[in-house]
Amino acid sequence: MSKTIGIIGGGQLGLMIAEQARELGVRTICLDPAAEAPAFAVCDERIVAAYDDAAALEELCRRSDAVTYEFENVPGEILVPLCERYRIPQGYRPLYDSQDRLREKRNAREHGLRTPGFEAVDDEASLRAAVKRLGLPAVLKTRTLGYDGHGQAVLRSEADIDRALPLLAVPCILEEFVPFDFEASVVLVADDERVISFPVGRNVHRDGILDLCIVPAEVDPALTARMRAESERFMRDCGYRGILAIEYFVRDGEIYFNEMAPRPHNSGHYTIEGATTNQFRELVRYLVGEPLREPELVAPTVMKNILGQDLEAAERIAAEGRPGVAVHLYGKRESRPKRKMGHITYVGLTVEEYARDWAGRFV
Ligand code: AMP
Repeated sequence: MSKTIGIIGGGQLGLMIAEQARELGVRTICLDPAAEAPAFAVCDERIVAAYDDAAALEELCRRSDAVTYEFENVPGEILVPLCERYRIPQGYRPLYDSQDRLREKRNAREHGLRTPGFEAVDDEASLRAAVKRLGLPAVLKTRTLGYDGHGQAVLRSEADIDRALPLLAVPCILEEFVPFDFEASVVLVADDERVISFPVGRNVHRDGILDLCIVPAEVDPALTARMRAESERFMRDCGYRGILAIEYFVRDGEIYFNEMAPRPHNSGHYTIEGATTNQFRELVRYLVGEPLREPELVAPTVMKNILGQDLEAAERIAAEGRPGVAVHLYGKRESRPKRKMGHITYVGLTVEEYARDWAGRFV
């Protein structure tokens, strides 16, 4: 009988896990509070329930051979007891280590990764003291629940400090501002035997949201090789299993850890068509206990995120059906500006060709 994977969360990541599972002959059951969650269109079984509904989560676990999560904020008080009784092979540890930006950066440092300078700040006095030590510019971030640039402020002047004080309603972290040359990320999958990593993508953000992922990163190949090697060593050192994505800043040939997530990552979507195996498929292989496969890049690839404002252009591009252009639309009912509605992967395209031939089709 084929195995069943349980997925906590039915957004686009859950959808793509379920699509790849289906190709491997693995069944999926998905839990999401929204009855029209994207993953429900392809998974085999559905549980519509809140993420903190203990009975529903228990049912998901009971009906699955292995359970994974597609988002970071599953609370420990729910997951830890389930981890003791069911097979949730990634466990709570990588989530715990990534849910708090202070803990996350301390953990990265303790395991040998370079980070920007940082300090915990809880009130105006500790913020001002931290600014004295770290200098300006600096970035103030809430320690928990920030995403896509929400819950953070760049401080360049005294006036910025005053304006940012409301963030201190919750515990924060102050980080050195890294005037990076570019941002890059690595997606890794580990089992008991090995850690595999996908080719490094160079990430371009717009309004704090990922816009493009460019692979190869078109920088010194020695630097991306080092980034992969350090990430693999970090994952092994931490004893994590399953999937992990790490985001870095690169400046003057130096690599700075920014953040990590123990789930498939937006910057890894290019792997579906752009690599010989992809992040979702290797996660599924890990979950069902099949040996992992080393990915190779198929050709230069550019991934463009489709936000609400890009949806019509993406639909037109999909209708053209051009070879090497893979349009993924997640089937979300409601389209809003800045909401991730899909992505397009261009295989066999450089970023210069993208800029010349495609960028003008989006707003
Ligand atoms: P984060 O939520 O930490 O990934 O931050 C969102 C974006 O803000 C990053 O992708 C960067 O573009 C920018 N950013 C965050 N932290 C820093 C930093 N310490 N120095 C410079 N830019 C930053």
